[in-house]
Amino acid sequence: MKEQATNPYRLLPAVEEVLREPAVSAFEARVARDVLVTLVQATLDAWRGEIKAGELDADGLQARLASGGLAADLEARVRAEEGSGLIPAVNATGVVLHTGLGRAPMHPEAAAAMERVARSYAVLEVDRFSGERNRRDDRLSTLLQRLTGAEAGIAVNNNAAAVLLALQTFAGGRAAICSRGELVEIGGSFRMPDVMARAGVRLVDVGTTNRTRAADYRAAVTDATALLLKVHTSNFRMVGFTEEVSGAELAELGRELGLPTVFDLGSGLLEPEGAAPLADLLEHEPLVRDAVACGLDAITFSGDKLLGGAQAGLIVGTAAAIGTMRRNPMYRALRLDKVTIAGLETTLELLLAGRGDEIPARAMMRATADELRPRADALAAAIDGLGSTWTVEVLAATSQPGSGSAPGVELPTWVIAVARAGFTATELAASLRAGDPPVYARIQEERLRLDPRTLLPGDEERLLDALRALS
Ligand SMILES: *Cc1c(COP(=O)(O)O)cnc(C)c1O
Repeated sequence: MKEQATNPYRLLPAVEEVLREPAVSAFEARVARDVLVTLVQATLDAWRGEIKAGELDADGLQARLASGGLAADLEARVRAEEGSGLIPAVNATGVVLHTGLGRAPMHPEAAAAMERVARSYAVLEVDRFSGERNRRDDRLSTLLQRLTGAEAGIAVNNNAAAVLLALQTFAGGRAAICSRGELVEIGGSFRMPDVMARAGVRLVDVGTTNRTRAADYRAAVTDATALLLKVHTSNFRMVGFTEEVSGAELAELGRELGLPTVFDLGSGLLEPEGAAPLADLLEHEPLVRDAVACGLDAITFSGDKLLGGAQAGLIVGTAAAIGTMRRNPMYRALRLDKVTIAGLETTLELLLAGRGDEIPARAMMRATADELRPRADALAAAIDGLGSTWTVEVLAATSQPGSGSAPGVELPTWVIAVARAGFTATELAASLRAGDPPVYARIQEERLRLDPRTLLPGDEERLLDALRALS
């Protein structure tokens, strides 16, 4: 009898037995029964592991079971299950276009437009007035035309897709010439030479890492050449003895040689009328309109970087070039859905209506340190009021545009440096990420730094709730 009681494995209940406990079966209101079964198995497996490692004996297990340890462990697992997947987060990092946090938050009117079409049928590929079939991005093309001065536009899933479509359309099975200094890697998974290879395009790289001239392109042209490509080095900067072929030079060369020209702009800075400019903050960031004015055949950029809209790849250019891309069967695999189109149309309409300053990403970039100071002070005071375990200090710091836009650009800000007694900065950051809502912040000099620049309306309260829940 005694021997049996001291064997902790025998005290572990069977899965079926656990599921009959009311405190456990109550979780069926929150997760499906199948899921609950796997969570119970995971708990029992974890405990079995503790026993095996000598960390849990019969007495310990008995005490744990008696004090409701099973339900407590399952509560944590059910919470993790509920909180996984795509849920809203608070971005207190100060990185405006934070790729890990979904880049640009959208304007409320754009988000509302997305919700409206998501919930209903929509006039996607039928013309309301003639009743005939039309193209899903006709309106987007018109809006892009008005904003950039290009003859036409087309939209696909992201800028990587836009580059793929452009390369494949104009140079599939043939060769494209690109400067050696512009063979960029964006965020690990987008490497220009790899994308070219997948598009079936042979890369001919010309010039040197730091200097490429029009003559280098010209000398590399053969019968196999189908395209001249330029890529904005959006996430790094070369300084010193450098030279690049400008968009205007490339367009000129293309016309002279009878070859199409494509410029991957990356961030896609637009300076719409009536909006405070961003160009002075983000020097070296080329403007879409300027690239269009060069007379290039196609220009690609992202919808969710400096444009401040939904994830998309936008291509503007000549009507002929855009039409050729539209006829490529690959476009069918890369095209946008109605929800994204609705969000982008509304974003572009806001830009055209002179309401560019309302686009959240633009407003966040433009916020000055003086404007951010009172927000930092108020938040610091509120955190200070949470209790004596918290220490706060408001410090001058810098935020970043993010998403590889404008490398080296630092936007002056004020941050709240937060510490909590008994917690390292890493532990504090981890518990905030695991909280509800998840909060993301930077760590510097062993303190968490909360930057008000990237807080959206209502985020201050959510952030305080998350901190309060830890107290
Ligand atoms: C960001 C970027 C890309 C990739 O754009 P996504 O929209 O993330 O697919 C491609 N080229 C350049 C130059 C970029 O800056």
